[in-house]
Formats: sequence, structure tokens, C-alpha cells
Amino acid sequence: MSTSVDVRHMQGEYHLSAEALAVLRRELCSEILRQLVQGDEQAALVAELTGQPEAHELEREAAESAAARARQAVFELEQALGRLDDGSYGLCEKCRAGIPLERLLAIPQVRTCRGCADARTGSLG
Ligand SMILES: [Zn+2]
Repeated sequence: MSTSVDVRHMQGEYHLSAEALAVLRRELCSEILRQLVQGDEQAALVAELTGQPEAHELEREAAESAAARARQAVFELEQALGRLDDGSYGLCEKCRAGIPLERLLAIPQVRTCRGCADARTGSLG
């Protein structure tokens, strides 16, 4: 039984240079910090608005969803850091193509190449 997993990128053919990976790692780390701060602020706002008059209901809901988005972002960013560590970072999870550096710099936690993102969403990407 042989598992022919594609590990070429781990054997020196990674399409991203060590410098690019270091930059992306920094991007991921600083974005995690930003999202953690954002999540904390929104959670504090939720706590503050909870139990207050109904006039604040929409504001509280908005803060709740912003806090949830920040948590989700942290989760995705941490997963991206994990992929950086195991060497699978920057490869499209659908077609295994290398994701171009400019796309990674724009969205460091991105998991698919432009083509696969387009195919999934229809137009966005
Ligand atoms: Zn792809």
C-alpha cells in the first residue's frame, strides 16, 4: 500500500521563498493580534449593551456578529499558521496549485487559488 501524497513542495520546490514565507508569517501574526483586540472590544461592547433598553438591541447584535467574525478570523489565521508550519501553506486546497504571492499578501489566510474561488462563488474572489 503506497500513499503517493504530493510532497514535492516540501522537498525544495516550494513556490514561495523563505523571505516571502517570513513576511506572510508576520502578516498572519499581526492580523491575529488585530482580530483578538477587535473581538475583545466587541465582546466588551456586547457585555455593556446586554440588559440595556431595546433601543440598543441592534447595536448589541451588530457587536455580537462583529465579535463572532473576529473569532472566526482568528481561527482561520491560526489554521494558516499551522499550514505554514507543516509546509502546506500557499497551496490551493482544491487543485493543489501554488497560490500566487500577491493573493496571499492580500488575504494571508486564503485557502484556494483565484480560479477555484471563482468556481465556488460564481463571481467573487
Ligand atoms: Zn485551485
